[in-house]
Amino acid sequence: MKIDILTIFPDFFRGTLDYGIVRKAREAGLAAIEVHDLRAFAHDRHRTVDDRPFGGGEGMVLKPEPIFECIEGLKIQSLSARVAGGAKQSVVLLSAQGRRFDQRVAEELKALERIVLICGRYEGVDERVGQHLADRELSIGDYVLSGGELGAAVIVDAITRLIPGAVGNEASTRQESFTATSDCGGGNGAADSTCGSGGLLDYPHYTRPADFRGWQVPDVLVSGNHEEIRRWRRRSALEKTLRNRPDLLNGAALSHEDKELVTRITGKET
Ligand code: SAH
Repeated sequence: MKIDILTIFPDFFRGTLDYGIVRKAREAGLAAIEVHDLRAFAHDRHRTVDDRPFGGGEGMVLKPEPIFECIEGLKIQSLSARVAGGAKQSVVLLSAQGRRFDQRVAEELKALERIVLICGRYEGVDERVGQHLADRELSIGDYVLSGGELGAAVIVDAITRLIPGAVGNEASTRQESFTATSDCGGGNGAADSTCGSGGLLDYPHYTRPADFRGWQVPDVLVSGNHEEIRRWRRRSALEKTLRNRPDLLNGAALSHEDKELVTRITGKET
């Protein structure tokens, strides 16, 4: 996968993409990430990338020319080719007004070969970039950031760890919060930790020491009984989801056993 990031602050990404899984994926050649300085595409003496808004009002707006020129130099498919079914490229405008980025969108983007991320600044980006260049606008959450760079870094991280081979133990990205599927890999019967969460939050994890300051890890986890561990983890994931993100239960893939557990936890039929 090739990812291009357009920004007026290229140094922002120094370090950000140099750790852990993202770093390993880059070194292994699974993801090539290139950061482009938009000022290099400004032609005046002051390398101007922003200007005042038409119609008046506060702040500055990123100009369209440097963004269009930069992307034209990247030899990306045309907008119409990208929005046609089966396209393997996407140009994304980071925007608080965009569709909310989530694990489902990350899965969708992971399947592509090329992604371009445009980082806005100031009051935002000239609307013609969103209309005639980007094929989607993505927001990383319902809050306003001062620039798209943090959003781009979030998206790169979330996608990169889904690329096959990026995470040492691939099964570990399956059983995680939000993973839509509840399929199991390999299917060794007791493979609870390799099954998808089915859209729930992840279950709680513990490691040594078994007794930390008098707080014991749950007995069941040291019992060696795989079936009981599986049931405990599923119940805990359901409890945590009900407590912190009940909205996720609507779209979750719940088995008959899950529904019984929810009934037992809440005292209500599902
Ligand atoms: N005037 C805009 C905010 C501009 S903030 C509004 O009210 O919607 C400047 C830039 O930060 C944006 O162009 C965008 O690239 C980025 N940004 C701000 N909030 C964001 C969010 N929630 N998700 C992704 N990018 C965001």
